[in-house]
Amino acid sequence: MSKLVIVGTVAFDAIETPFGKTDKILGGAATFIGLAASQFGVDAAAVSVVGGDFPQKYLDLLSDKNIDVSGVEIVKDGKTFFWSGLYHNDMNSRDTLATELNVLADFQPVVPEDYKNARVVMLGNLHPLTQLSVLEQMNQKPELVVLDTMNFWMDNALEDLHKVMKHIDVITINDEEARQLTGEYSLVVAARKIHEMGPKYVVIKKGEHGALLFNEDNVFYAPALPLEEVFDPTGAGDTFAGGFAGYLAKSDDLSFENMKNAVIYGSTLASFCVEKFGTERMVDLSSEEVHKRLQQFKNLTQFEIELT
Ligand code: AMP
Repeated sequence: MSKLVIVGTVAFDAIETPFGKTDKILGGAATFIGLAASQFGVDAAAVSVVGGDFPQKYLDLLSDKNIDVSGVEIVKDGKTFFWSGLYHNDMNSRDTLATELNVLADFQPVVPEDYKNARVVMLGNLHPLTQLSVLEQMNQKPELVVLDTMNFWMDNALEDLHKVMKHIDVITINDEEARQLTGEYSLVVAARKIHEMGPKYVVIKKGEHGALLFNEDNVFYAPALPLEEVFDPTGAGDTFAGGFAGYLAKSDDLSFENMKNAVIYGSTLASFCVEKFGTERMVDLSSEEVHKRLQQFKNLTQFEIELT
């Protein structure tokens, strides 16, 4: 079976949105990616680090979803990565209130031996050198390397981010971050500049306004599903990336055409993530619910115009 390596934070998050506020709950890029990818039944392993304060039940939750957590290091006398965010009224923008790296500061990732031959590697949001170190441990170049990152690493480790970008196939990034990375307002120009930095495929996520996929002169756009309930967008970007990479890990077709489907899967899974706080909605998500929503997506985007 196809193997997927997932790298990223496993974290505590404290979130405030116009609909409520949470204390420290389960979060982290690798957590959301793993939960999304678990929908595809591929062999997946998470590579991350937590502190002694991290409840075993959260690791069990990932294991129950068939995510191998042997690559999640536990630093007994350390504290787990903590992130806190406050969403504005439109829910499309947020302020980061705190980023406490804690055990992440000295993290040296170790890819489990069984996964060094994985076909797909999903480099979730982490220090770019940590992302690079995972790639260096692989026995051979994976067929597909997807990278997600955020403004924090552009502010704090831009040179290292450029280094890892030379070794990846796909980058998933949000619109604001694409503009920050390139200094370009136009997302078309920004995508072209990002291509020149390394990745052949560029996915720009636009929150409730959908996602764009670029590859050379090809562009594909998928809207986000209009939803009745949006409680907490935290993790939507990671869930998108997990759906995108999980779908491609399951399929053996890495063409642009099939990446369009990966974008649709990513968008569909992200549409569930935002309906509840943190990981709550993703934990019990059934394949029937996903199937139903994919159908809604099809209905939303299909039309027949006769071009004369
Ligand atoms: P998203 O909403 O998709 O951008 O992802 C939010 C998740 O990313 C939260 O669960 C955080 O724990 C995690 N996160 C926030 N800041 C960082 C960072 N600088 N590096 C890695 N992960 C982060």
